[in-house]
Parts: sequence; C-alpha cells; structure tokens
Amino acid sequence: MKDNAFYFSHDTNARNDERILQLLTEYDWQGYGIYWAIVEMLNEASNYRLSLSGIKGLAWSLSVESDFLEVFLKRCFELRLFQKDDDNNFYSKRVLKNVDKREKKSILGKKAAEKRWSVDKSGKNADALGTQCQPNAIKERKGKEIKKRKDKRSSKSFEQFWKKYPRKVGKVKSLEAWNKINPDGVLIKTIMVSVEKHRKSKGWQDPQYIPHPSTWLNQQRWDDEILEKKEVVDQFKTDTAGFYIGYCSTCGEGSSYSRAEIWGDSRCCKDKIVPLKMEVAP
Ligand SMILES: [Zn+2]
Repeated sequence: MKDNAFYFSHDTNARNDERILQLLTEYDWQGYGIYWAIVEMLNEASNYRLSLSGIKGLAWSLSVESDFLEVFLKRCFELRLFQKDDDNNFYSKRVLKNVDKREKKSILGKKAAEKRWSVDKSGKNADALGTQCQPNAIKERKGKEIKKRKDKRSSKSFEQFWKKYPRKVGKVKSLEAWNKINPDGVLIKTIMVSVEKHRKSKGWQDPQYIPHPSTWLNQQRWDDEILEKKEVVDQFKTDTAGFYIGYCSTCGEGSSYSRAEIWGDSRCCKDKIVPLKMEVAP
C-alpha cells in the first residue's frame, strides 16, 4: 500500500490530463479529490475493480451522498476516466496500466535476480549462502543510505519552509506534516512559491488570519490559488443558462462565458474579462 501511495504521488502528469481538467472545471477541487480517492481505492481493490452495486458503501467511505456519486461516476464514464465491465464493476485504465508497469518491473527484477543466481552458482567460488545474502545486504545498506539522505533533504527543505512561513507556531507538528507529505523537488518549489505569494496577499497581513503552518500543510493550502479563482468567478452574474456574463475590458462588449473561459481572454479583443461593463472611451 505504501508503495502504491508513493507511486501515485509521482503521477504528476495527472494535473495536465485534459479529462481530469474537465472534471476540475465541472466539480472543482472536490471532484479532483474524489477522483483520486477512487483511483486509490481501485488500486487497493481486489482485481483493481470496484462493484457498482456497492455504490452506497463507496459513497459512505468517500463521505459523499450516493446520489451525487452516481452522477459523478456517470460523468467519469462519459469522460472515459473510468470504465465499466460486464459484471457491473468499474475500473480505471490508468490504474491497470500502472499495475502492469509495476508488475513488469518486478518480473524484470526477479529475472535479473535469477540470472545473477545462476551465474553465481556456476561460478568457481559459488558459495550459495554468501551469494544469496550479499545482494540483499547491499540492498539493505543502500536502502538505509537513501533513507538517511532523504531525511537530511527533508529536514533541510523543512527548515527552508519554516524560515519563510510567517507564522511560527507548532514546529514539531509542522515537521510531522512536512514528513507526511514528503515533498519531492517539484512540490517543494510549488510550496515555496505559494508561501511567497501568500505572504504578499491581503489575507496574510494580519498574523491572526494566517493558518498554523501544520494546518496549512495538512490541508494542502498551496492549492489555494484555485480558491482565489473561485472568488473571482463569484463576482460575475450568470445568465439563465448558467453561463457567466463578462465584459471585454477593451471594447466593453458583453458576452456569455463558461467557467473555464472566464479566467481567459475575451472573444472579441483577447483582453481581460471583467464582471462589470466599463466605460469605454469612444
Ligand atoms: Zn472586445
């Protein structure tokens, strides 16, 4: 299980996956979270499949309403994020692909070990016990070295974070949160950039409004930018079809935009879309 978790935490391309982005547009980060929670469950399920007849139980373990989950899954099937089989189960091609990769890797590893083993056996000084133990001993030592290096890297990066984070409470708890996340290089950078941005934001000028660093880490608040976007979206009025009414900041033309479009440029002049019609000089 830990191995799988490790694997998925490095599946960074997911964010750019168009179909997941679609899910994000429609369901926000909640949908994104639920999608990945289901992927994790599939990854741990027998045969890497979950039964659709047990949807209530699934909904319960995801803490969502089963009505919601049904609609959500339906959308996932449409987007081909999950697939149904003939036995009323569903699975994820992505999970199966990753499992396949992992199994191939372990088979290759086994084959290499077997090869080594047979070479050693035919060798002149073949000492069965010795040759069998040696690779393991090396592996173990290497594992310890890597762990040591990792710990060092982790505490070093945590100190960087701690130095930068403007509210210094609960250092031990924060370090625990940091180690739990165990961020890789890319994520460390993301977190640092986000802290820097937050420091400059209005909300963080009064220390009492700055969350405890452990909370901030545990809730993965470096993704808060999305919330800012949500607030931006809330400023727009919607039409009867649920589209957002935005005005071009160059020519003032009003138009309906989808949620995804509203963060982009206006159709007419390719300029910022604003929620209120602006006075435009003739
Ligand atoms: Zn325009």
